[in-house]
Amino acid sequence: MAKATTTIKQVLNYSPDHGVWFAANQALFNRVTAFYFEVIQAHEQVLDLSNKDALTTLEKLTHTTQSNPTPVMPLEEILEDIPAMFRRAAINAALGSARSFYSHLSKWRKRKEKAEAKGKTFHERPPVPPRSWNKSATIYAGMWKERTESSIVIKIWTGTCWSWIKVHITGRDLPTNAELGSPQLIRKGNQWWLHTPVEKRFKSPGKIEEQVTTNTHTQICAVDLNLNENTAVCTIQTVEGSILATKFIGGGRRISGFRKKQLGRIARNRHKTGMIAEGEQDNVALWNKIRRVDEQVAHLVSARIVQFAKQHSATILVFEHLGNLKPTKGNYSKRGNDKRAYWMKGRIFKYAKYKAYNVGILTSRVNPRNTSRECARCHNLVARYEEGKPAEGYTYGAPLVTCTHCGMKGNADRNASLVIGQRLLTRYQQSSQEKPQAPLFAERGEKSPGVVSSQDVKSKRGPSILPARHGDNNEHGTAQDGLLRMDEHPSDIPCQLRFSFE
Ligand SMILES: [Zn+2]
Repeated sequence: MAKATTTIKQVLNYSPDHGVWFAANQALFNRVTAFYFEVIQAHEQVLDLSNKDALTTLEKLTHTTQSNPTPVMPLEEILEDIPAMFRRAAINAALGSARSFYSHLSKWRKRKEKAEAKGKTFHERPPVPPRSWNKSATIYAGMWKERTESSIVIKIWTGTCWSWIKVHITGRDLPTNAELGSPQLIRKGNQWWLHTPVEKRFKSPGKIEEQVTTNTHTQICAVDLNLNENTAVCTIQTVEGSILATKFIGGGRRISGFRKKQLGRIARNRHKTGMIAEGEQDNVALWNKIRRVDEQVAHLVSARIVQFAKQHSATILVFEHLGNLKPTKGNYSKRGNDKRAYWMKGRIFKYAKYKAYNVGILTSRVNPRNTSRECARCHNLVARYEEGKPAEGYTYGAPLVTCTHCGMKGNADRNASLVIGQRLLTRYQQSSQEKPQAPLFAERGEKSPGVVSSQDVKSKRGPSILPARHGDNNEHGTAQDGLLRMDEHPSDIPCQLRFSFE
């Protein structure tokens, strides 16, 4: 079984008094956590133990019981009668921080030794333990009860006593088929939230190689990420190479226009003040604005990719490796824009991988070399050109491709997406001994290459093996007409991302 974790975030509705209590509860949680961090610092050897044994040891060092009447560092000095589950949540929080701190410290020591062994002076400052604590309180089982869709009863420190209170919840419902973790009380601005980690278990997907070589029903979703209008172009292919569906996810021009405007403003501010750094006060708001929109787009695009893959029962998602950011020419805002667009591609991959895994889809990457220059049908080099220009040469970023060898014509990004998918299939199918010359392309439909079929022709064609989705404006090329329908043009496709610039 595989498992996936997500966090369900819910807003709490409470009286102002309760807001004060939540704050008091959090302050106490941090005092107890800080206390245990100190205990660990005084007994570093507990870090060699498992979390479970470390917890027992730390309790012996601090918790007064009949059999342990005089602990070394009594917790009672902070507050008497702290509930066991509150204490344990704080101990685990302290252990997490301590493990992280000591691992940074030991890495720093190693770097220092290495530098000194080479006779270099070492300027890097050592990591310091946290000076202040701002952890959110985790509510372990025993500290909460009677959880329903709309409320929960929790035990918290009010500042003067421990009290059970009922709090109302709004927001996303909890999934029914999942395992709930311990919720956390989180403060965002003036609002308190309840975050609940949720663990879902599902049947582990088979290894990619196994899926691709042993199951002819396997479908893959290949994704080409771009800096132009088509932020992502996804194609669904069978392992035998038939193309089942294509989706263009647009919005690239809008996002880059937005960035350009903000970067232009930053450049003008810089000109006025002579400063450029991201941290400079003047530009902080502008940088944040760009960052927020980039993040939002990365989440939206990755969600759309995974949704499309899932709709078409793809079980593998394929991207190309990002490669290095090529320095581009142009003014400050052009360069900055390209850089951010490149980072966004990385984030789209990261989020898509995570979201895909949550629905049982595995993600892989292939060599990016010439994915845009290769013909998806015959693998010769294509000509890439602007609309209305002669079909020759290679114009970087141009929307159309044509292959002089086999006559394939079509959208350049869609062609690249197909090549990306084929690379994954080739990787595994060539290594499998049984079919050394596995036909990657089972061409279907018309025989004459290069015939562009229109939307009408397509709908008159025989039954598709997929449920008809022609009514859906967001979908294109859903029929199994393979490479012959390379005539789609992104501007026809009304799939725009809705994101807000506020
Ligand atoms: Zn060709």
